[in-house]
Parts: sequence; C-alpha cells; structure tokens
Amino acid sequence: MKVPFLDLKAHHAPLRGHFKSAIADVIDSGIFAGGPAVADFEEAFAAFCKCDYAVGLGSGTEAVWLALLACGVGPGDEVITVPSTFMATAEAITYCGAKPVFVDVDERTYTMAPDGLARALTSRTKAIVPVHLFGQIADMDPILKFGRQHGIPVIEDAAQGHGAEYKGRRAGSIGEIGCFSFYPGKNLGALGEAGAIVTNNLELAEKIRILRDHGQARKYHHTVVGWNCRMDAIQGACLAIKLKHLERGNELRRAHAARYTAAFNAVEEIVAPFEAECARHVYHVYAIRVPDRDEVMRQLEAKGIGCGVHYPVPVHLQQAYASLEHARGAFPVSEQIAQEFLSLPMFPELAQAQVDYVIETVTEIVNSGVMA
Ligand SMILES: *Cc1c(COP(=O)(O)O)cnc(C)c1O
Repeated sequence: MKVPFLDLKAHHAPLRGHFKSAIADVIDSGIFAGGPAVADFEEAFAAFCKCDYAVGLGSGTEAVWLALLACGVGPGDEVITVPSTFMATAEAITYCGAKPVFVDVDERTYTMAPDGLARALTSRTKAIVPVHLFGQIADMDPILKFGRQHGIPVIEDAAQGHGAEYKGRRAGSIGEIGCFSFYPGKNLGALGEAGAIVTNNLELAEKIRILRDHGQARKYHHTVVGWNCRMDAIQGACLAIKLKHLERGNELRRAHAARYTAAFNAVEEIVAPFEAECARHVYHVYAIRVPDRDEVMRQLEAKGIGCGVHYPVPVHLQQAYASLEHARGAFPVSEQIAQEFLSLPMFPELAQAQVDYVIETVTEIVNSGVMA
C-alpha cells in the first residue's frame, strides 16, 4: 500500500468545477490584484475566525511582517518568539530591522513556554509572537497576561492553526493580531501563494491595509512607505470556495489523529502528540517523536509511506542566524525535539486503511529494535 504524505489532488478533485467558474468570474471582472473577490473572502474568513476584520495578503510571511510593522516594530527593537517554528516567523522579525529573541517551547505541547518570557524581556522588547505549531494553540492566557503587564502586544503566528481553538476562542482572535498563511499545504491552502491577518482592532487593520498597498490611503497619495503585499484575486476567489470545506477537513484530521494517537500511546518508544485539555488541535502536522528518527523514516519510505521532518534545525541554530551567536544547548527542548520529530501522513482524504497501515508499519519498525 502507498500512503502519500499529503494529497492535494484528492482534496481539489471534487472542487474543480467550482474553481473553474470562480476563476472565469475573476477573468471577466478584469480585477486581479485585490478587489471584490478578495474583499468577499476577507469577510468570510474574518467571520470564520470570529474576528471583526481580515486583510488579505500575498503570503503568511508578509502577514507576520506587516503585523509587526503595524505594531511599530522597527530597527533596534526586539521581538520574542520560539526557535521551534518555520523560519518565516523569525525572518519577518528580521525584516522589520528587529532582533528575534527566543524562548524555548514546552516539551509536551511544543509551543511557547510562558515561564521563559521573563528572562527574554528587555527594555527593547516590542512584541511577542507565539506560534501555534502543528495546529495547536500556544498557552495564550499566561502569554497575554505577561504582554499586558509590560504593555507589549501579542501577535499570533497562526499559519498552522486555521480553525484551532483555545478555551473556546479561535486561532487568530486571541492576540492583538492573528497571522495566517494559505500556502497550498496548509489546512486552508490557496492554489498558489496567499496569506492574511485578522484582528478586532480597526486601527491596526487600516494600517495593514495601507502597508500592503504601497502605503497609499488614496491612490497615488502615499502616507507611509509600504510594499506590495496584496492578495491575488484568483486566490481570494478559490480560498472562498475552500473555506467552506475547512471545518470538515479539520474534523477528519482530528479523527485520523485520534486513531494514530490511541495506537501510538501503547508503544513505549513513541511519543504521540499531546492535546492540551483547553485546546482544539487541528493537526496541520501529525508529528510523533521516535529515537533514531532518520532510520525509522528511511524504512517507512521504503514501505511506501511518505514522511517529513518539521523541522530538522531549530531557528536559533540556522546558519542564517549565526550572527545571533546561540550555542548548541541554548534551547534544549527545541533542540531535542528537532532530532526526534517525525511527521506522518496527515490530510483529510486519508482512508482508514491507510491510517491503519501507517500505524502497523511504524509500530513494527519501532518494535523490531533496529534503532537500538
Ligand atoms: C507556513 C508558515 C509561515 C509562512 O507562510 P508563507 O505563506 O509560506 O509565507 C509562517 N509561519 C509558520 C509557522 C508557517 O508554518
């Protein structure tokens, strides 16, 4: 049996007719950069996130970048985030001219450990960016409390958390601004590149609308220096179609994850994902931890099972950040999990027989003791 890591074709096949007519409508409208198709999607996505405003952008990286700029982050400032994330979170901080300052993650949820914040705080700290890694929301209440105490905004990197919940609140609606990516492989993915921010703060939404369009509040009247971060209209139109299927997709992901986890919890060498009681995890990535990960992965791939590693090198040890001079051992949890993480096939259209084959095969490999 073959089990791909991800199968976008299966996800898109039933929607092809809808995509075709939506794309035809955009072509007929003649409006391709922003415009009504994007505005309609923004309205629907804001409602989905239980937020007042959404602003469509060109990517998730731009979402984090413009969110930070709108909060006034600039050269000489520091922004606190985690090393266990995709590079883009830190890149966005650097592209504001600010410095990423890391706090380690919790060893069960893999999200920002709030008790590390006090040590990372300086007089230059201008924002905190927790990451909802793999689809589980960070422990936001203590993070928000810390932010309030020190007058620092909390910006959610929700690029992996579309539809995730924390104490009944939706990802993106909890901090000052929520940042989303619609990279094709995300739980809500475009047919190309796209991203968005959501917020309940009208002033911040307006600032980001201006920043995404060359700093112009009115055509050819530029109040600030911005950039071109507009959402493509074809992406907006297709995202509006896919948004209607997001909840169902998330429910299917959760069902596959529950089946995986029930089985893996019975295997001593495997650490299955931990779902915090107050969190609704949406399993953008289903990652287990195993000893001798690379060998397990090699054997799984030989048996037709696609896997991935998210992420093999924590951000503070990336060559690009050598100038930050973080030694190995600086963030021990992030470093340990980077060596053990193994992402298994996870997408809504997985068949139960495929899930069972993955369970059987992983268990067999781990129990065969090859990894001693
Ligand atoms: C995907 C991702 C991003 C970047 O989104 P793009 O749309 O690829 O620019 C940022 N942060 C996290 C945590 C991500 O997973």
